[in-house]
Amino acid sequence: MPVCPECKYEYVEGVKKCPDCGAALIESIETDDDEPLEEIKWKKLRTDTGIIYTEMLKEVLENEDIPCILKPADLSPFVGKGTNVLGDNTHLLVPEERYEEALKIMQDMSE
Ligand SMILES: [Zn+2]
Repeated sequence: MPVCPECKYEYVEGVKKCPDCGAALIESIETDDDEPLEEIKWKKLRTDTGIIYTEMLKEVLENEDIPCILKPADLSPFVGKGTNVLGDNTHLLVPEERYEEALKIMQDMSE
């Protein structure tokens, strides 16, 4: 998409000159500064009934280079929706493509 180097406005394909200031448009350089490199699909590995085990599991997964996030369960009867308290019934999320791997590690752990 062409962009004016002066005004930073973007124009539709085919426009060669900025109608505003007359500067020649340049092709915008795609920056990945504010966009994640790839969209990560998170999959729920487990909803734990105990935060201690969940946090331990998270540590083990991160040691295996599997990113994971803890997400408080919205429907916990004890925690209001939107409250950022990690407690019982916390979801442990892992990227979908690492799910099988994470599942295996989790199973190994509980043996
Ligand atoms: Zn311009």
